[in-house]
Amino acid sequence: MEFATFAARAERLAAEPGDIGTTLAVADLLAAAGGGGNAADASDDAEPALRAGDDLPTVTRFLLGRVFPAHDTRTLDIGPALCPEAIARAAGPNVTAADVEDRLAEAGEIGAVAAGFDFGGQRGLAAFGEGRDALTVAEVDGALRELAAASGDGSESRKLDALFGLFNRCDPAEAKFLARLVLGEMRIGVGEGTVRDAVAETFLSESVGDAGDGEESEPDAGPAESDDAEPTLCAGDEAVAAVERALQVTNDYGRVAALARDEGLAGLRAEGLVVGRPVQAMLAQAGTATDAVEAFGEVAVETKFDGARVQVHYVPGDGGEADDESEADDPEVDGGTDREALGPRLYSRNMDDVTDALPEIAERVADRVDVPVILDGEVVAVDEGGDPLPFQEVLRRFPRKHDVDRMREEVSLRLHAFDCLHADGADLHDEPLRVRHDRLVDAAPDAAATLDLASDVEAVEAAEAAALDAGHEGVMLKDPDAPYTPGDRGREWLKRKPDVETLDAVVVGAEWGEGRRAELFGTFLLGVRAGADAADGGTGGGDEFATVGKVATGLTDEALADLTERLEPHVVSEDGTELSIRPAVVLEVGYEEIQTSPTYSSGYALRFPRFVGVREDKSVADADTLERVARLAGDEA
Ligand code: AMP
Repeated sequence: MEFATFAARAERLAAEPGDIGTTLAVADLLAAAGGGGNAADASDDAEPALRAGDDLPTVTRFLLGRVFPAHDTRTLDIGPALCPEAIARAAGPNVTAADVEDRLAEAGEIGAVAAGFDFGGQRGLAAFGEGRDALTVAEVDGALRELAAASGDGSESRKLDALFGLFNRCDPAEAKFLARLVLGEMRIGVGEGTVRDAVAETFLSESVGDAGDGEESEPDAGPAESDDAEPTLCAGDEAVAAVERALQVTNDYGRVAALARDEGLAGLRAEGLVVGRPVQAMLAQAGTATDAVEAFGEVAVETKFDGARVQVHYVPGDGGEADDESEADDPEVDGGTDREALGPRLYSRNMDDVTDALPEIAERVADRVDVPVILDGEVVAVDEGGDPLPFQEVLRRFPRKHDVDRMREEVSLRLHAFDCLHADGADLHDEPLRVRHDRLVDAAPDAAATLDLASDVEAVEAAEAAALDAGHEGVMLKDPDAPYTPGDRGREWLKRKPDVETLDAVVVGAEWGEGRRAELFGTFLLGVRAGADAADGGTGGGDEFATVGKVATGLTDEALADLTERLEPHVVSEDGTELSIRPAVVLEVGYEEIQTSPTYSSGYALRFPRFVGVREDKSVADADTLERVARLAGDEA
């Protein structure tokens, strides 16, 4: 497919107002990229998802602003300066990177800026002799993959050359989407759910036979469209669920699209986990003991460890020792679970490979685990007696590339595995938690966290009290019969922590927002009363304020507009995007916890602060004090 075709379709998608219309338009594009084909079209020797010259996986990923699938640790790693520089170079000798950046500051997004230049003047350059050929989707993909592989000395300039080479061959419409693609944001109103539905629509819709094996599909499979009637989607819930499930296990929209086309429902359902290909972590919602007992009857109670999420992938081999050098095979290509030995690989919650930062965990897994596994767990810092230390201690180790050995001496780590997604050749994610937990205990007895079953609120609360007494954060309350659903924040897992009180803090600074919100304040610096006046419970007239954090979460456009209007009259000075603000407005803020931190003048920082509301009823003199912050942080004031 020509990149110009992709760009034109992307432009049309951006203008499509309705959800169903968008899904149908994406389906149409996928059908065009996939040759309108299905299993019947694939040549006999073509492996699913791997046909040479197949644009479908690439186009599917491009739609989501991706070159690599989410689980892939490769990144383009294009810094904010590189793209403007490449655009400037392609735009000719009269344009500098600073010009491009100026336009970017005005337009707020790179696509519009890239589309504003004429790159034609450079096309005839001898060094880019092929410049007159139309750029294809496959070429863009290939060039960006090559660019991602550039490392070491001179890699920045090679990346710049590669990007320049691409822009140089773009017309404005192509340049717009190339620029957005390299920065990972397409801005065409197509989210993951839309692509999921469109894959089902294109390759599995009932109109083309929901037979379960894809064999009966018509070659001209395409989305249902009609000129007069309201557009409707044909793919059934079952088809969408099969696509969703395959996405959960692969994290690769490109692969799933090709699988749906080539192997239909059966192929999607057969897609398994691959040791070495991380999946998204299953997440939890907040809930109480009563919620859990009412929803699950019997409740699986586990300690909520306060550390960093880690997914462990390991296939023991000869000797089974940790193999720090081993790289997972390209998981984009490898579809099977049978695989060669793989030294333990550890992935963070964002699916980044953090093995090198946590060598003792990898060594311990290699030492103690004898079967191929995918484990889910939490790495916590512990003191000499093995008692848990606060979360900040783990952060010192994680993720870290330098000084690993020294930090290993300073901060001891322990893995608490609480789930097992794969053991000894069997995928377990569709099994109930109680089965997975038994397999976890078999596969990794040393690391397995305890799971207790409780059937009444008192028993759950007693377990919570015991976990808190032991220095943990709280408990996780889980449905023992629920499968593991990667990436899902459902009600099957409930997290229960002691309630935290909100804080009433004073706005003492702000930062301008970005992009669409560039005209509004976007981030607010928070302070609490710290002067002698605060201690006296005085009027606030002589108060000093100590900063405790910045809040930018939980604010709607409306709230931002309101706060901007309220605060503008109190701006004292402006420095770049940062504003200093006279204390006048009190915000109620929630947070997960308060940590000691050198970042703010109070010596404390709110972790995950979120805006709750404006305390209209409170003046600055009624705002919270540093003393209360210290108390909430657990320090005696
Ligand atoms: P939160 O970060 O407060 O949303 O809580 C959810 C996080 O708690 C998970 O992402 C895990 O990193 C962590 N966690 C600690 N212990 C457990 C456990 N037993 N089961 C699941 N998640 C846990």
